[in-house]
Amino acid sequence: MTGRPDLLIAGGGPAGLATALYAARAGLDAVVAEPRPAPVDKACGEGLMPGAVRALTGLGLRVPGHVITGIRYIQGPRRAHAEFTHGPGLGARRTDLHGALHRAVLDAGVPVLPLRVTDVRQDATGVTVPGTGLRARWLVAADGLHSPLRRSLGLHAATGGTPRYGLRRHYAVPPWSSCVEVHWGTHAEAYVTPLGPELVGVALLTAVKAPFTTQLAGFPELSARLPPQAAVTSVRGAGPLRQKARARVHGRVLLVGDAAGYIDALTGEGVFLALAGARALVANVRRGTVSRYETDWRRATRRHRLLTGALLRACQRPALAPRIVPAATHLPGLFTTVVNALA
Ligand SMILES: Cc1cc2nc3c(=O)[nH]c(=O)nc-3n(C[C@H](O)[C@H](O)[C@H](O)COP(=O)(O)OP(=O)(O)OC[C@H]3O[C@@H](n4cnc5c(N)ncnc54)[C@H](O)[C@@H]3O)c2cc1C
Repeated sequence: MTGRPDLLIAGGGPAGLATALYAARAGLDAVVAEPRPAPVDKACGEGLMPGAVRALTGLGLRVPGHVITGIRYIQGPRRAHAEFTHGPGLGARRTDLHGALHRAVLDAGVPVLPLRVTDVRQDATGVTVPGTGLRARWLVAADGLHSPLRRSLGLHAATGGTPRYGLRRHYAVPPWSSCVEVHWGTHAEAYVTPLGPELVGVALLTAVKAPFTTQLAGFPELSARLPPQAAVTSVRGAGPLRQKARARVHGRVLLVGDAAGYIDALTGEGVFLALAGARALVANVRRGTVSRYETDWRRATRRHRLLTGALLRACQRPALAPRIVPAATHLPGLFTTVVNALA
């Protein structure tokens, strides 16, 4: 690394670490600032969609986990099933995903500093983090859903609608399906992801603030498969899920991953979007076309923003929500098309 790196990346989650890897591959100097020790865990459904798996493979990463072959929607006796048509997804513990990314970043010679970045000063040629001696040509805000940098730079935008939250827990039981199952309840959706020979993850998405066990009881069929004594992790939560940024480019600061904006975990594509954003960001820095990053980010995330936004609107309307799974059941071709458009 030279004295002044090209990129100072605030946040060492999937978005920040992927940015560091793409940067190293593009011959750019990068430094990551991440206050939490590796491997970092977080509330997540842990289903990597096929696009994310392809991007990770393209970066030379092998993440341990359980193959995911498709998505299944379940509501009472109704079942709708869509196979992935462009390669498999992967159910992977966040700690395994983070561990693989973190090791690859260190192997690529990118330093990871145990630092929290909340305040930056920018001028015509670079960005400085006061009190740290750190200066870089560009600062990448990859600091997650609640992005302190997005807020401190005045880029945070208000969002409408009822706030939704996510809760997750793991159970030491053999997966009963190679699909991600989405159980549609009255007040929540429960995601079941196969993660290993004896491990499944359950993520609950809901607008109701209630404990995990109370919410899980709303899914009797699922609860019956998940005895309380099989729970092997404590409950982790995140939210409100919907977050909006006014822009992805603010002078010499570039936003990526959840910091750049997030709609909902309904379609499980957050890691894919983090990787796609990281790739577009680095390509533009390398070409010297940073102002184009906003357009490229919009293009890379457009389909997901539209489809996830539409599904979220339907699931929040009492007249439409009960019709989602019946519609998917009656129109299997359309369901498969939508699942694969997202995947
Ligand atoms: C309940 C739930 C279920 C989900 N399910 C899925 C799923 O099945 N599949 C999927 O692909 N996605 C899923 N997602 C989305 C996915 O978790 C995120 O999109 C993804 O983690 C985004 O990565 P990121 O690097 O932008 O943010 P994060 O993973 O949040 O990483 C941000 C990092 O920044 C660090 N940080 C924070 N503040 C600072 C600071 N000031 N300075 C430096 N570092 C800082 C944090 O410590 C953290 O390590 C889910 C999300 C939720 C909440």
